[in-house]
Amino acid sequence: MNFDILLQKIKEYDKIAIFGHTRPDGDCYGSLNGLKNIILTTFPKKRVFCLTSHVESLSFLGKMDSIEDQEFEGALAIVCDTSTRERICDQRYKLCSEIIKVDHHIIIDNYGDYNIVDEDIAATSLLISKFFFKYPELKITEKGATALYTGIMTDTSNFRYRGVNLETFVLAGKLMELGVDVEYIDQQLSVESIRTTKLKAYIYKTLEVTEHGVVYAKLNKRIIKKFNVSNEEAATYVSLLSNIKECPVWILFIEYPKEIRIRVRSNGPDINMLAEAYGGGGHQKAAGASVKNWSKTKSFIKEANYLVKCYKENIPYENRKGRV
Ligand code: AMP
Repeated sequence: MNFDILLQKIKEYDKIAIFGHTRPDGDCYGSLNGLKNIILTTFPKKRVFCLTSHVESLSFLGKMDSIEDQEFEGALAIVCDTSTRERICDQRYKLCSEIIKVDHHIIIDNYGDYNIVDEDIAATSLLISKFFFKYPELKITEKGATALYTGIMTDTSNFRYRGVNLETFVLAGKLMELGVDVEYIDQQLSVESIRTTKLKAYIYKTLEVTEHGVVYAKLNKRIIKKFNVSNEEAATYVSLLSNIKECPVWILFIEYPKEIRIRVRSNGPDINMLAEAYGGGGHQKAAGASVKNWSKTKSFIKEANYLVKCYKENIPYENRKGRV
């Protein structure tokens, strides 16, 4: 991976706006805050902003900035961890002079003037770490290393996915040498309230299973309000449905004010195609989409059920083009 253009452009610009995606996760927060830390530690005179929405549980990695439109004039935009231009959290990235995309998702939209994308690497925070360790002139503090380590840890679900390899551990190890406290990170990420514990119980109590083995749960507005959790918090519980022996695909539906967000995961068939058929996208084993109403979720469940049937009975799913 060639990072020369990233370093060259960082040196060239005095103002740099780093953008993430909507509904930021650990890798988004990790890559944004890690990169900001590298730039400011190495070039203290530059002005660097991080832009995505606030997530309380990740705010230990750094706060997001709130800036006026005119600040984007003459700035460099670096967009991290965001596969398509629609998912960029703040559309004012268009006001910047040049755009660099740094990402690890499947390429469907090369919206950058420069695109640094590695589809095979497990996290964008790993890409930023590679960038950092490549150039000895770059500096980082313990806080920046903590952000990058957290991004790697969360996007690999604690180093549990097959995409994890020697390079992942080498980079994570090198970050640890810079002072990362793994226990501190674990405490920040694992803390649980009574509300969320009760919500977990609700999900276990109400989950449903389709004929061929799709397990799913639905969290509508009323339930989210009843348990007094944010939509983002509610959405994190997709992992509760994982690893059920009979169910290679699991889905959590979360009702947001204007849409129903679908989070779908698999340890069997590839599910990105299914998500794409509903206007979404993602990875082979972790994908998502948004639909307008609950009736669309029914057809999504039906399709997922058929996908699992194809997988279990060895029928090619691709042959069904046009049905969804
Ligand atoms: P999530 O369930 O939000 O963690 O999403 C899993 C993966 O699917 C993410 O890494 C995104 O790349 C992708 N994804 C989720 N929702 C969408 C969407 N509406 N459009 C495109 N890609 C999505």
